[in-house]
Amino acid sequence: MSLDTGIRLAYLVAAVCFILALKGLSGPKTARIGNLVGAGGMLLAVGMTFATPGLSRFPLMAGAIAIGAVLGFPAARLVKMTAIPQMVAAFNGVGGGAAALIALAEFNKSDPHQLAVYQVVEVLFGVVVGCISFAGSVVAFAKLQELMTGRPVTYPGQQVLNAVVGGGILGLAIAACISPHGWLIAVIGVLALFFGIAFVLPIGGADVPVLISLLNSFTGLAVAASGFVLHSVVLVVAGTLVGASGTLLTRMMSSAMGRSLPNILFSAFGSVVTATTTDGELGDRTVRSGSADDIAVLLAYSQKVMIVPGYGLAVAQAQHVARELAELLESRGVEVVYAIHPVAGRMPGHMNVLLAEANVPYEQLKGMEEANPGFQTADVALVVGANDVVNPAAKNSPGSPIYGMPILAVDEAKNIVFLKRSMRPGFAGIDNELLFDPKTTMLFGDAKDSLTKLVAAVKQL
Ligand code: NDP
Repeated sequence: MSLDTGIRLAYLVAAVCFILALKGLSGPKTARIGNLVGAGGMLLAVGMTFATPGLSRFPLMAGAIAIGAVLGFPAARLVKMTAIPQMVAAFNGVGGGAAALIALAEFNKSDPHQLAVYQVVEVLFGVVVGCISFAGSVVAFAKLQELMTGRPVTYPGQQVLNAVVGGGILGLAIAACISPHGWLIAVIGVLALFFGIAFVLPIGGADVPVLISLLNSFTGLAVAASGFVLHSVVLVVAGTLVGASGTLLTRMMSSAMGRSLPNILFSAFGSVVTATTTDGELGDRTVRSGSADDIAVLLAYSQKVMIVPGYGLAVAQAQHVARELAELLESRGVEVVYAIHPVAGRMPGHMNVLLAEANVPYEQLKGMEEANPGFQTADVALVVGANDVVNPAAKNSPGSPIYGMPILAVDEAKNIVFLKRSMRPGFAGIDNELLFDPKTTMLFGDAKDSLTKLVAAVKQL
């Protein structure tokens, strides 16, 4: 077998590893091994690339990998789980930018007038989609990292400007196909960078994660285009897998929010933000606040308690003590289940990952559709650091930014207990009427501290 055939075979094995990795990542029990298989495939692909005969500029490539490893490894090790969406945005942007640069470099290496139209189209696709993904991801990162406002940024004539820039990119791309010039491709790249920023600015709040998933699929497509430019099957396969899985995740997230994708991407265009924040101000309304002892009695003498975890559980790292409380209640004969909203927390599957880490049996985790009918028979819905995912405004307030998002039917439980630190709103920045409901008792404080107090109080009974 020649070296060339060996390298091609190894690339095929790498591509199979990527497919198996995705399969593994689709379930909590196989996710870890799936990740390792994917990483192994990537290592093989990179190793084989270095084995390619006639490879030049070895030190430059090794230097680039070293810089990437030095920056990426600690970033991935140290990132808090609540900041993973930002990290995904940053890594995704780098991928999109790399795909655009590869396409540009390959174009510059060749004689443009010897290129067939389809080859110019491949280059253009990589440059345009890669630049949009890079610039859009940078803005999405800045929004999530609170380096700029997370709300939609709108201004008069925004739609028209975006349409003009989009049309300009298309027109110049057609011109580049007819007469390919390096400067024309560079201008198209700059316009695509501008379009990436302009396209993302009006998307804000809870829509940003869906946007990141969409940009992720753009990066996949740009990488697949680079694969065509470089005649690299493994890049085409990897890019297509990212593109397809990103698209599926985008669809799943938008349906979990009860929104169509065009609505998420374009609804803030030219519109005024309707969200309101309380910043802790109650006006003349009152809320009922309880002590840990009172709530412990309520929980311990219930037949059924449904725990609703949210972002605050992740911030407080309260998953272990939540499991401890659940086990304590179960030992007293209380039925306990966890109701998991698909977008609770800050990333898909966030609550499942946290609770699995705390060894909560997977069977106790009920997805929204399975959990919702159960609230009617629940004595207590114990909401631990969740807010938007239980906010009835999603059902009752057509003007609300979260209107249409399916929510957990916590309002149907006989009693509701909120564990949070204040009356501040959640990610979407809107009031939650449920906090003022006569059935609701607030236990103010950090979720971990409150749960610890509840555990101690239940033990005393
Ligand atoms: P929310 O962001 O709506 O609410 C979280 C609540 O937790 C806040 O009201 C906050 O109130 C409370 N909290 C924060 N820290 C603590 C703490 N240490 N102890 C106790 N409480 C705390 O979270 P949800 O999970 O209900 O909803 C998720 C939101 O995030 C949705 O809008 C979703 O669309 C969006 N989103 C989802 C993503 C995903 O993929 N899952 C990704 C990104 C966004 P207080 O400050 O008063 O304590």
